[in-house]
Amino acid sequence: MNSLLDPNPAPLKDWLTAHGYPAYRTAQIRKWLYERRAKDIGEMNDLPKKLREELAAEWQLWTANVVKHQKSTDGTEKLLLELPGGGRIECVLLRDGDRRSICISSQVGCAMGCVFCASGLDGVDRNLTSAEIIEQMLLLQRLLPAEERLSHIVVMGMGEPLANLDNVLAALDVASDDNGLGISHRRITISTVGLPKQLDQLSERNARYHLAVSLHAPNDELRNQIVPVNKSIGLADIIAAADRYFEVSGRRLTFEYVLLAGVNDQPQHAKQLVSLLAKRTALLNVIPYNPVAGLPYQTPSASAVNRFRDILLEGGINIKFRQRKGAEIDAACGQLRRSTPPLLSLGN
Ligand code: SAH
Repeated sequence: MNSLLDPNPAPLKDWLTAHGYPAYRTAQIRKWLYERRAKDIGEMNDLPKKLREELAAEWQLWTANVVKHQKSTDGTEKLLLELPGGGRIECVLLRDGDRRSICISSQVGCAMGCVFCASGLDGVDRNLTSAEIIEQMLLLQRLLPAEERLSHIVVMGMGEPLANLDNVLAALDVASDDNGLGISHRRITISTVGLPKQLDQLSERNARYHLAVSLHAPNDELRNQIVPVNKSIGLADIIAAADRYFEVSGRRLTFEYVLLAGVNDQPQHAKQLVSLLAKRTALLNVIPYNPVAGLPYQTPSASAVNRFRDILLEGGINIKFRQRKGAEIDAACGQLRRSTPPLLSLGN
């Protein structure tokens, strides 16, 4: 079945023409989807009834099943979606002051294997289609009251977005389009483990988004251990590709660093990070480890975190600590997984 959430408007336009409807119906339908937050085709009451019936017979709107909807006391909400074929993904709505941010997934599972992250524990199943990526945005948008709008998107959920670049970019085109969700490019962040070839493609194709590179270690020896995909890549190539993105985009780069107690939070790591990042227009986003059931890592103590921060600040590095949101519903960074966690979950 055709999907109404396909970002390419051509198939719908062609179908409308073939069925004797004017092309402007496409824009009307898209407005219902993105702006008017329609729940189903029947609601689109400025379309002729016959058209609505024909659409409902031949076009799909929602394909995912919301298997679970959790709300945290800090305003974070998480949806567990089951896709056709049985794959499961999660996506999150975060509230922070006026901000209404969503964190969306790009793949079912993840192949990168970062040892501290729940999303890759079972490997990758498949790429999401662009319609499935858009569907997450719309389902999360519908959790907001009518007068509130989504303000930010981070592609930081399950999966490696640059391993599914075509579909991610097609979906983000709709997110940033004025006739789509109308979210400014600068409020959309693509987070990547750092795949140099795909980073260069991103620089060429669309360097308008904010880029975040998941670093997690200041040297290859350590990064090979905690971000296994690094063995075939190496920090130098990643940083060079990130620099090229910066040259094209002019947007400050973000580097992400999950702090794991006793693993990458020592003074020597902070000092190496200073030399690695010192001459760049970059922000270091430090994320104290969020516990994942079954993994052996620990969140560093406040004193270890402060010591780490002080060395970076003294080294002149812009540094920000990511606020921990949604942890009580396992919706915080790195806690999204494709299956329901075991009953013995630590539940932090
Ligand atoms: N594959 C992409 C996007 C998904 S991961 C990437 O690697 O960037 C997004 C972020 O989640 C990573 O940067 C990392 O900062 C964070 N993360 C993963 N596991 C975590 C954990 N257990 N605790 C805290 N943050 C985690």
